[in-house]
Amino acid sequence: LGVTYGPAFWIHATYSYVLLLLGTILLLQAFRRAPRLYRGQVGVMLVGALFPWIANALHIFGLGPVQYLDLTPFAFMLTGIAIAWGLFRFQLLDVVPAARDTVVEGMGDGVIVLDAQQRIVDLNPAAEAILGLTISDAVGQSWTCAVPNWLGDLNGALAQVPSPPSPCGVERQAQISDGEGPIPRTFEVQISALAQQGGRIAGCLILLRDITEHKRVEETLSLARDQALEASRLKTEFLANVSHDLRTPLNAIQGFADMLHDGVYGSLTEAQYRKVGRIAANARQLTSMVDDLLDQAKIEAGKLEIEEVPFSPAGLMEEVETIMAPQARAKGLQFQTEISDDLPASLSGDPQRIRQVLVNLVNNACKFTQEGHIRLRAYRPDADHWALQVSDTGEGIPKEAHHYIFDPFRRVDGSPTRVHSGVGLGLALVSRLVALMGGHIELDSELGSGSTFTVILPLDPVQAGL
Ligand code: ADP
Repeated sequence: LGVTYGPAFWIHATYSYVLLLLGTILLLQAFRRAPRLYRGQVGVMLVGALFPWIANALHIFGLGPVQYLDLTPFAFMLTGIAIAWGLFRFQLLDVVPAARDTVVEGMGDGVIVLDAQQRIVDLNPAAEAILGLTISDAVGQSWTCAVPNWLGDLNGALAQVPSPPSPCGVERQAQISDGEGPIPRTFEVQISALAQQGGRIAGCLILLRDITEHKRVEETLSLARDQALEASRLKTEFLANVSHDLRTPLNAIQGFADMLHDGVYGSLTEAQYRKVGRIAANARQLTSMVDDLLDQAKIEAGKLEIEEVPFSPAGLMEEVETIMAPQARAKGLQFQTEISDDLPASLSGDPQRIRQVLVNLVNNACKFTQEGHIRLRAYRPDADHWALQVSDTGEGIPKEAHHYIFDPFRRVDGSPTRVHSGVGLGLALVSRLVALMGGHIELDSELGSGSTFTVILPLDPVQAGL
């Protein structure tokens, strides 16, 4: 039995092996690039592709078990089995598209795919609801004819898509009817070009995200913010007006009480003298509260200005001592002052505001200390700063209160401070004033072991030492 191969055989064989060779090369490339998950599958297919090569080699070199019997067709059968086993064993080809379908189908955002001629090619259920079209009606239709009027404005954006092949987003307001009546809905629209290999635009993908609720919440928040700002502005204005109006009669009460006390209108009995003294002291306290309120209002309105003038820190300390020491001594407290030698004799700043800060801190120290001492210190913590420190041996401030006692109208919750006068504005003012002067305030205190407030202010090297 002789076998001779005619030209048709060789043509067919060459064609088959060229295809097989290309297939094997593509599989090898895929194997190299495939993520680990797919490698097993591609590997099985590669092994399958090797069978025909082996069978053919055996046949050509006459190594087959039966002479003239070409095993290649059987090898192709094995290839088919290997490929089928690969697909069933790994089932990966099924999973990815199914997963993608599930995500796209279940998405709340509308997804629409258009081809290069702007015909609808695909859309998900969310897009069906938005457009009011079923997929069977929509697919194949031109975008301009199929979509509701409100989406027609997108045509301009769509026309521009092919020029930049990268995704480009546009946001647009749109209204869509909701059965019973028109409910304005806002959609964020994103249009991305679908580029094929070689950069040709194959169509585009339109993503419609319903941001109605998001916008509504945003608007509500912005309205609430505006209302809060307006309320705060009115409160500040009210605070400023009331404080201003209270100041004039209070000054009169204090002035006349002082004059009565000093005997300007004749001599007083012992009892009258004591009572008038109390009227004057209370009026002074009220005036200082009203002053604090006025300053707070000024700070909130951004109208409080800080001066820059030369002053002597030692002179300032003396002034504070003159104002505050009698109050401390009247309570049986020692009042100590200490000024460090390395502090320049003259500094630049706002002495009136610094005095206000110190008087506030020392006043608190007096209020909350029953025995021991109050110390006022001025020193230079480093080359660029100077510090003013007020420490006392009073009741102390619990750690949890440190962060809020600097807020306006806040006092230590649930403590006996309720028995002390004050509206909780002092420290708020102090910290705002110190901040306006470019400094900051530190607090070191624990309940039962006194308090130390340290005000750190910048020391202007040019102005220092004037
Ligand atoms: P006010 O003195 O009007 O209550 P402040 O803002 O000056 O308001 O002080 C807030 C609170 O911080 C005070 O009510 C008090 O509880 C606490 N506090 C401030 N300074 C001291 C201090 N030296 N010792 C203990 N507690 C203090």
